[in-house]
Amino acid sequence: MKTLEAIKIGSELLKKKNIESYILDSEILLSKTLNKSREEILVKLDQNINKKDIIAFKEYIARRSKNEPIAYILKEKEFWSKNFYINKDVLVPRPETELLVDIIVKTYKERKITILDIGTGSGCIILSLISSLENSNGIGIDISKNAILVAKKNLQRFKLSNRVKFINRSFERLFDKKFDLVVSNPPYIDQKDIKNLSNDVKRYEPRIALDGGNHGLDLIKKVIYKSKNILRVKGMLALEIGNEQIKKVSKILFDNNFRIKQVVKDYKNNVRCILAYYKWKMNNNRRRNFRPRSQKNNFRRRTNSLSSNSSSGLGNNGNMIFNRNGSMNNIHNVEKTMLKYQQLAKDAHSNGDPVLAQNYLQHADHFLRRYNELNVKKEILTEKNSLEEKNSNSEENKDKNISQTSN
Ligand code: GLN
Repeated sequence: MKTLEAIKIGSELLKKKNIESYILDSEILLSKTLNKSREEILVKLDQNINKKDIIAFKEYIARRSKNEPIAYILKEKEFWSKNFYINKDVLVPRPETELLVDIIVKTYKERKITILDIGTGSGCIILSLISSLENSNGIGIDISKNAILVAKKNLQRFKLSNRVKFINRSFERLFDKKFDLVVSNPPYIDQKDIKNLSNDVKRYEPRIALDGGNHGLDLIKKVIYKSKNILRVKGMLALEIGNEQIKKVSKILFDNNFRIKQVVKDYKNNVRCILAYYKWKMNNNRRRNFRPRSQKNNFRRRTNSLSSNSSSGLGNNGNMIFNRNGSMNNIHNVEKTMLKYQQLAKDAHSNGDPVLAQNYLQHADHFLRRYNELNVKKEILTEKNSLEEKNSNSEENKDKNISQTSN
């Protein structure tokens, strides 16, 4: 049998089984059988194929007829210009996930960061990131032992073991590390929608990598909660999410003190990737929490250099900083304004307007910074006042002593 005929027979069989890409798949499977590139076989259509190869080719066609994805038959899939080893223990890497890699590479180009990839599967995300971000390193974690075996195979294939480690563990059991970036393409299909997936996906890809539980959000939520504990200050969370999940996911992010930096739409105009920074949280112990340690030290140093007759000072209520900036120098006003913007942002979010919410949050952040500055100033002045008080008390005592002595 000649090449042309084999391709024709293969594609007709696939067409009968409703495989959409029947010609392409037949060509690819023949090139796999003959261990030649597709181009090579297409220029030699009258080449004879031996019996052994015809049998092998027909077996591949039979597998594809039952909807087995080409990537599992070939045991490889190209992703981010690299050929990844793939088997049925991992999800087939998708072009949509390359969008996630792309935006991260653009964001962190030339920087040195530490990355955690949650639910790493074949390792396609972390290995692509690390190969593009040459100064960075990372960990890929997966609950599936078999997936980690696949990832490790790819690690060797791309010779990145000096900068990437793979761990077979639930990410919920990850404690003592901090990362600049947490990235994840978690299972995000709504449990109820699994039955509607195409046969290729539903019958062959690992259910554990697809099923996102209730509304497809169970794992996304867990990743967000966990990221709060393992991200460094100003660390970023990068997620791939499902169709029409953006509203719900941005609400969860917002409620957990993340700020959306960027979203990326896929080829079908769905928001597919989301990048969000983690911001530290306000609590009742605000003043202590707002002031970083470095500022505390500055505060001591600056106190020492304060001139004792500075004209700016605390007002009667102990909170007013008197200078030209008017009411926004009153700590209470600033705090009230900050809280007002936070509330407005929450309302905008509940009304389904994340853009307006982000806008309000930026205002809230501005007033939060102002609040911190004022608190530092206030501390300085309080300390200065108490110093002055001490001084004047000791002056008084001295006066007393002198008058007593003179009596
Ligand atoms: N991170 C892998 C990928 O993007 C696996 C994702 C998953 O199993 N949900 O392909």
